[in-house]
Amino acid sequence: MIIETGDLQQKDRRYTGEEPASILDIEHDQFVRGWGSITYDLTTQRLNEDLLVQGTLTADMECQCARCAEWSKNSLRVAGFVRSYSLSSANESIDLTDDIREDILLALPMKVVCSDTCRGLCPGCGVNLNKKPCACHPGKSPTAWHVLDQLPLI
Ligand SMILES: [Zn+2]
Ligand SMILES: [Zn+2]
Repeated sequence: MIIETGDLQQKDRRYTGEEPASILDIEHDQFVRGWGSITYDLTTQRLNEDLLVQGTLTADMECQCARCAEWSKNSLRVAGFVRSYSLSSANESIDLTDDIREDILLALPMKVVCSDTCRGLCPGCGVNLNKKPCACHPGKSPTAWHVLDQLPLI
């Protein structure tokens, strides 16, 4: 995303739009595939010789749940994008692309779960416990105690 400094006036200005996922320039990793477009909603504010840019970034992505391994569509949101750029006569445009990429990659969680209540896969039989109970533990989710129950006691 590029801001033409010639367009800037003294008052605040709002920029909204989309960038293609290709600006992220990353390989699809193990847990993320299918990046959608990146939406920005930014406001610029002139502070003397600096331009303050702040706002929100949203990136759609398809990622794999760390517990149940299902793929789901998610939105990654960066609520606090803030950057300051110096306005000199030398720069006629300011390119925000690198900074947008940086903030989105930093916001990427190490682990994604499809929901906080995801019950994951049964360690015994591999059934997705969100979808159905399995024979190992009919009607209840696995717990650490359940594993202990299976220990052969002498
Ligand atoms: Zn899940
Ligand atoms: Zn099972």
